Amino acid sequence: MTEEQIRSNFNSVKEQIEETVLKAGRSPGSVKLCAVSKFHPVEDVYAALNSGQALFGENRVQEAYSKFTELRNSGKSFELHIIGSLQLNKVKKSVEIASCIQSVDRDELLVEIEKHCAKINKTIDVFFEIHTGEDSKSGYTDKTSLFASLEKFEKGIYTHIKPIGLMTMAPFSKDENIVRNSFRTTRLLKEEINAKFPDLPISELSMGMSGDYKIAIQEGSTMVRIGTALFGERC
Ligand SMILES: *Cc1c(COP(=O)(O)O)cnc(C)c1O
Repeated sequence: MTEEQIRSNFNSVKEQIEETVLKAGRSPGSVKLCAVSKFHPVEDVYAALNSGQALFGENRVQEAYSKFTELRNSGKSFELHIIGSLQLNKVKKSVEIASCIQSVDRDELLVEIEKHCAKINKTIDVFFEIHTGEDSKSGYTDKTSLFASLEKFEKGIYTHIKPIGLMTMAPFSKDENIVRNSFRTTRLLKEEINAKFPDLPISELSMGMSGDYKIAIQEGSTMVRIGTALFGERC
């Protein structure tokens, strides 16, 4: 895709996000755009940066590491979120390059994130990934294990990690109700967490991709993760 096409995709996606936000009766600017650049070359990321985008999502650590190390060396300012399921041996590199890990789905990952962040004296943001659809294998599947992780935050066990939200991937379904239900379940879970753990800064809902972000916004998303609609089909 040319830089011009990418710029035009960004403009139209951002317009549609704002239009959906307003139609849903929400405040302007209440939904952030995380541009998912996985499988796209670093040139596409430069094009996005040139059109004003600073927040990116990648789901493979190795790929993100090579692309975004190059970008960092170029002096551009940007923020990178890891959004794909993470193996323990990838945590070290993830915390080096990312400001946020959106795909935390088990407590042992938090233990490893804490260990590596402490070593480099960095505080990182995390989202808890919630399993709401059969198509995705990752995500917390039960409240018991999720609440156990949250209790550890309440006790102050993780001092280099800030838990800021929930993330989910809806099932790929033509049935809008199934998709909507997945987003709604995640929002209700966030409300339950806010009531049960009022001291934790869980305020974000990362929900919505190219095919379903309008439904996600109607259901309260504060961050959409969009790849295809911005960069085209993945290479
Ligand atoms: C790839 C990916 C996206 C973006 O998907 P598109 O359909 O290309 O917009 C969003 N979230 C996660 C976790 C992904 O892996």
